[in-house]
Amino acid sequence: MEYLKIFKQKSFSCALSEPIDETLKLHLLREDGQEDLTFALWIPSEGKNRFTAIIKEVIFPEKGDRNVHGNVSYNYEYLLRVCRTALKKGYGVALLHSHPISFGWQGMSDDDKSTEMKTFVNAFSTTELPFVGMTLGNDGYWSSRIWYYGEDEDIIYKWSESVKVVGKKLQPFFNDKILPATKPNGQTIRTVNVWGEEQNDDITRLRVGVIGLGSVGSVVCEMLARMGISKFVLIDYDTVKKHNLDRLCGVFKDDIGERKIDVIKRNIEKSSTSNNLEIEIADKHIANEVAYRLSLDCDVLFSCVDKPWGRYILNHIAYAHLIPVIDGGISIEFDDNKKLNFADWTVHTVSPGRPCLHCLNAYHSSDVELEKQGLLEDTSYIQGLPDNHHLKNRENISPFSFNLASMEVLHFMALVANLVEPEYYGEQKYRFKHGFLSRNYDVECEKNCDFTNHVGVGDSIFELFFSENEEPKS
Ligand SMILES: [Zn+2]
Ligand SMILES: [Zn+2]
Repeated sequence: MEYLKIFKQKSFSCALSEPIDETLKLHLLREDGQEDLTFALWIPSEGKNRFTAIIKEVIFPEKGDRNVHGNVSYNYEYLLRVCRTALKKGYGVALLHSHPISFGWQGMSDDDKSTEMKTFVNAFSTTELPFVGMTLGNDGYWSSRIWYYGEDEDIIYKWSESVKVVGKKLQPFFNDKILPATKPNGQTIRTVNVWGEEQNDDITRLRVGVIGLGSVGSVVCEMLARMGISKFVLIDYDTVKKHNLDRLCGVFKDDIGERKIDVIKRNIEKSSTSNNLEIEIADKHIANEVAYRLSLDCDVLFSCVDKPWGRYILNHIAYAHLIPVIDGGISIEFDDNKKLNFADWTVHTVSPGRPCLHCLNAYHSSDVELEKQGLLEDTSYIQGLPDNHHLKNRENISPFSFNLASMEVLHFMALVANLVEPEYYGEQKYRFKHGFLSRNYDVECEKNCDFTNHVGVGDSIFELFFSENEEPKS
């Protein structure tokens, strides 16, 4: 009944990493053109409005586990073995099969339905978790649904709105019946000419979260709104201050004192070229459960926070929940005579297959602890630091942050549109003092990195930070 309640309120989606997608395609799309199947295990990633099943590991059939003969079928022993492993690990069971001569989003045949219904009964009685069915078309297009008990213990299923393959690129597969494409309305002719109508259908269906609506986040929102993005999640707990007016995009004197989420939401509504705009907002720190769950509804996140704790949490989400994060930061230093030592801004996309923010030194772990203790907002603590300490950094100018925002949106395009070579989109750093852009794609995560060693663990490793009504000290 617990899941009945969840699926009455929330949409359903599936996510898998690029390496898992590759091994599944090798197995399921057979050279002899026959249908095939395999079991896998999944982990929940529960957002505020969307429940995602992350395919964590595949348990391929061994000899004698299945019969390949037109309509493939599995032997009971194989299912039992999978259920036992799922129970031991606390994961759910998924059954994946191929439709060798079909393309695009797949429906279920009567055989598919009866097989999945029977599998659900066995899987649920062992794991007490819903069961996930997935189908792979010959073109590599995924479709999926989730099975659970209805009101009167009847067995029901819900189609997913999307399946996503996540790695150096983000490949979404959408269910047109639940999330239909928005056709361009004439305002974005030049934009659509860049990536074509087919990709525009996918890109404009993505839900994009922007965490931090300051000098970078406000510009990112403006660009995404103009590009036709229709689903936004905005997270920021701050209000507009007088000293923000030199750097916020679309924010004016009259807005002083208003919540940034309200002002930026209004700006997006004005700038949007989409016919079906949806904006969700949270005036919370990302460490608060409300904001955290809302970010799990997203397909891509922009990390525009200026403090380390938010970066740390977003780094966790990128790997554990398979939601790519595009992060940027500005670093400026003056010497004792107020002469500029350097002004650099750096942008990275973090997702499975790429190095994480911790290993890229995008934040200092020791600063995360300081922020948790409220010391970053403690004026006497900050004043006590040496003059050129990075935490004392209070210089910035709009061309720096607008340039960084543009570079972040270029990373977004590299991630979601097939226009560039994603390998080139490692760490990029603009060095203002020397006037050039440097590229760094040699960094790898440390061997024992906590983030890249926990790809796709979803809610199974969950650090709850704040409950709904608590606020961070900052
Ligand atoms: Zn089938
Ligand atoms: Zn790492």
